[in-house]
Amino acid sequence: MPTVVCNESGLDTDLLRGDFPALQQLVHGRQLVYLDSAASSQTPRQVISALLEYYERDRSNVHRGVHELSQRATDKYESARYRLQRFLNAAEPEEVVWTRGATESINLVAAGWGRQNVGPGDEVLVSAMEHHSNIVPWQILCKERGARLRVIPMNRRGELVEGALDTMLSPRVRIVAVAHVSNALGTVNPVREIAAKAHAAGALCLVDGAQSAPHMPIDVQEMGCDFFALSGHKMCGPTGIGALYARRPVLEAMAPYQSGGDMISSVTFEHTEYNDLPHRFEAGTPAIAQAIGMAAAVDYLESLGMDRIQAHERDLLAYGTERLSAIPGLRLIGTARDKAAVVTFDLEGAHPADLGTLLDHQGIAVRVGHHCAEPAMRFFGLSAAARASFSFYNTRSDFDALAEAVETAKEILA
Ligand code: PLP
Repeated sequence: MPTVVCNESGLDTDLLRGDFPALQQLVHGRQLVYLDSAASSQTPRQVISALLEYYERDRSNVHRGVHELSQRATDKYESARYRLQRFLNAAEPEEVVWTRGATESINLVAAGWGRQNVGPGDEVLVSAMEHHSNIVPWQILCKERGARLRVIPMNRRGELVEGALDTMLSPRVRIVAVAHVSNALGTVNPVREIAAKAHAAGALCLVDGAQSAPHMPIDVQEMGCDFFALSGHKMCGPTGIGALYARRPVLEAMAPYQSGGDMISSVTFEHTEYNDLPHRFEAGTPAIAQAIGMAAAVDYLESLGMDRIQAHERDLLAYGTERLSAIPGLRLIGTARDKAAVVTFDLEGAHPADLGTLLDHQGIAVRVGHHCAEPAMRFFGLSAAARASFSFYNTRSDFDALAEAVETAKEILA
């Protein structure tokens, strides 16, 4: 359980920050202000303890041993799946496949579902604001299968152009793959509506939830998507673990992505019978410690309450946006009406890399670059920008520190 959690106005950030050892440090002699959670969030003690306990007590392989340690590890590994199922409100744990992260989840769908279901003349739709990991796997698939990758356009605010999807949908479209929240712009896309439209046109819908699962309640059944991809390290979990949610009938019909141990029920030199769901898609020794750590992360987030996390971060978004947009020469990139946890900006006359370095010298961690969303950056006429991304452990004072540091950097760079 977290140390605490709330006061009357919501999360008690001062107290819960105590759960995050990495937030306690000085960087270049200043108290760290961590504003890079969209790249990777910080990890609470509760997750670190779960990892330690596995390594110190239960360390062994899963699904293979009758001995005590292996049974403990297997129980914890499988119970982690239940916890994530509940977190996502998937109908059953078998619909949750462990992967290395959102990237691998999307690759799994592009290979396992795409090669069977996308053919010459078919179309795959992605949006103009996608992360490279929701572009490149589809590009490779389309090239291999003679299909066409088409892009749902966005407007200058960084919102999907209204009505564009309706005009693009046709019987040729096999899947619509969109980010729930854009990592580069913070835009929250109307994924429920997108899934419903895709289905009405006979297509499936994949939602890239890498940037939404850490910030808002997720209900995949209510969303109506066929696939939902997430990464553990962006939601207080360990690195090297993520998940793919897929509806059972879709998953049942999919070809294995990787093959070898654990994904089989029997093997002869002539023929292999595949294992049941979801093990069919988890070849080899899985990321056991990381799955156990993921369960602790999900427990942690749930004990704070995703509604409370969302409310706290909405307040921070409004405050941070106001603070930064008051700086002369600073242009916000991504001003969608519905946004989450990301403020990307360009500072006139300052190269983002120089700005990032100067901020780092003041103890402030932001990301600078194309944010693995080069097409989105190019749309705004940029090759790079600075991004402050935050989480429930950030406070208004973090944005005060950022705004002051940007002013200082501006003077130095002038
Ligand atoms: N999708 C989005 C929207 C992301 O922001 C990221 C990572 O930044 C990914 C996918 C890929 O996640 P990972 O690198 O954890 O696989």
